[in-house]
Amino acid sequence: MGRKKIPLSFIEDLLSRVDIVDVISQYLTLKQVGRNYSALCPFHPEKTPSFVVSPEKQIFKCFGCGVGGTAITFIEKYENLSFYEAVKRLCEITGIEFPSEFSEIDEETDILYETAYEVAKYFHSKVEKIKDYLLNRNLENTTIKRFLLGYAPETYLKDLKKDREILKKLNLVTEKGKPFFANRLIIPIFNHTGKIVAFGARALRKNQTPKYINSPENDIFHKGNILYGFYQAKENILKDKEVIVVEGYFDVISLFQAGIEKAVAPMGTSLTENHAKTLKRYAKKIVLFFDGDSAGERATLRAAEIFAKLGVEPFIARPPEGEDPDSLSRNKKLLDEIISQALPLSKYLIKLAKTSSLEEKTDTIKQVVSIFSYFDTVDPFKLRRFLSELSVETDSDIKWLKSLIKTANRSFTKETTSSKLPTPEYEKAFIKGLLERKIPSKVEISPNLFISDECRKLYILLKHSEKPPNPIELEKEYPELGGILAELSLTEFTEDEIKAALCRVLKKEIERKLRNVKEFNIKKKLKLMSINLSNKEVGGIEDILSCIN
Ligand SMILES: [Zn+2]
Repeated sequence: MGRKKIPLSFIEDLLSRVDIVDVISQYLTLKQVGRNYSALCPFHPEKTPSFVVSPEKQIFKCFGCGVGGTAITFIEKYENLSFYEAVKRLCEITGIEFPSEFSEIDEETDILYETAYEVAKYFHSKVEKIKDYLLNRNLENTTIKRFLLGYAPETYLKDLKKDREILKKLNLVTEKGKPFFANRLIIPIFNHTGKIVAFGARALRKNQTPKYINSPENDIFHKGNILYGFYQAKENILKDKEVIVVEGYFDVISLFQAGIEKAVAPMGTSLTENHAKTLKRYAKKIVLFFDGDSAGERATLRAAEIFAKLGVEPFIARPPEGEDPDSLSRNKKLLDEIISQALPLSKYLIKLAKTSSLEEKTDTIKQVVSIFSYFDTVDPFKLRRFLSELSVETDSDIKWLKSLIKTANRSFTKETTSSKLPTPEYEKAFIKGLLERKIPSKVEISPNLFISDECRKLYILLKHSEKPPNPIELEKEYPELGGILAELSLTEFTEDEIKAALCRVLKKEIERKLRNVKEFNIKKKLKLMSINLSNKEVGGIEDILSCIN
């Protein structure tokens, strides 16, 4: 199709025309601190801000979890997009035109997206056939259009005249060549950037089982990453900083129709940590609004626990027994009331413990403490308040409640402590020296000497580049290096620090060689080099390098 990859020149031009402070301000509240701006990091739980945005360098960096990079990298991570999608999104936000000739040049994926969209449009064109059903469900035309609802007649494979292999990849054909969906209401699944990647299908008759079927996962559809309705709700969620999580497609659709355009649902499975992380980045207030039955109750607690693990206290809205958000949307007044009266998780859990039956009380208390104990690390005061309130409300001994925390927590800390070592300062200074060409790239050391994976990778890249590398290009090719590049760009090292770092790295290299050589003369020479390097009076970089020749 003659489309080309986004050229570096376009990216550089784009980045020079936008201000990273404006871009990030659309997502986070930034506070000016000296020359920089800071905020609570959206990528890891924290109480004091370690997330920094530098208007001078046009980069961001979190000194807590290490992520960092340009405005594009920020959008990529925040919205969970590919590089290509993030560039497009940045253009969208800033009103800069995105040339249509650029593509991801992944022809096969493009064909899948295009076909899925055409199939969805075809199903949508047949929606008249189930008009009565939709009317019965109270669905208005604008809603049907907005969610591109459709109908799959038995004959769709013949009607579509599409490449069977592609339809197979989209799971629209069974192994036996039969239609995967037939005589069902079709709900196209949009991914978070608005591409149709799968279909949900609902039975239309009582004797049709199962009630729902979904496309199995395929190359473009990964359940754990997609929330139904997110694409349609995204702008509102960002604006209001609030999201409502419901159980099913029709809960999302009906809430939208009732004017609550910020509802999302996990894809026929329970909420995953990935879903929760996405929502946490977009919304300050997360309301869990599941069905009014015991399954909905259990799902609420499971989802609440996932958010608690991320240091987020969700709000809980519960429909009356037997109702769900879909059924309630016919009664807007009651619906609004229930949502506005959603309880913060702590209050909800206390209420749950307080109202549980005598036989179940001990178990319920253990369960609610176990869920809330995740706040121990992010917000110990919140946990303490919770425990004392729980103790008063359920008339239980505070010491006993605290003892439950210890047992609940043990499994938690084990899961989350990371084994990754922090990057030593001298490695950063050494790489900074190389980047600025204060240290010539001819310096030969073993890449295995680096403790930090990022520094090792950068060293190898710098070693093989003739001219000083362009950080924007490096970040584009190696997004995982965004954090270290941003940090290096924000950190100034003095001449002496760079020299000390060079000496340290060279000495490590000599030690490594000493371990590997046996010959006496070489050993002696290496030892002498090491001694020379230890001599504080070595002078400039060239003098240091002469020690090892
Ligand atoms: Zn962070």
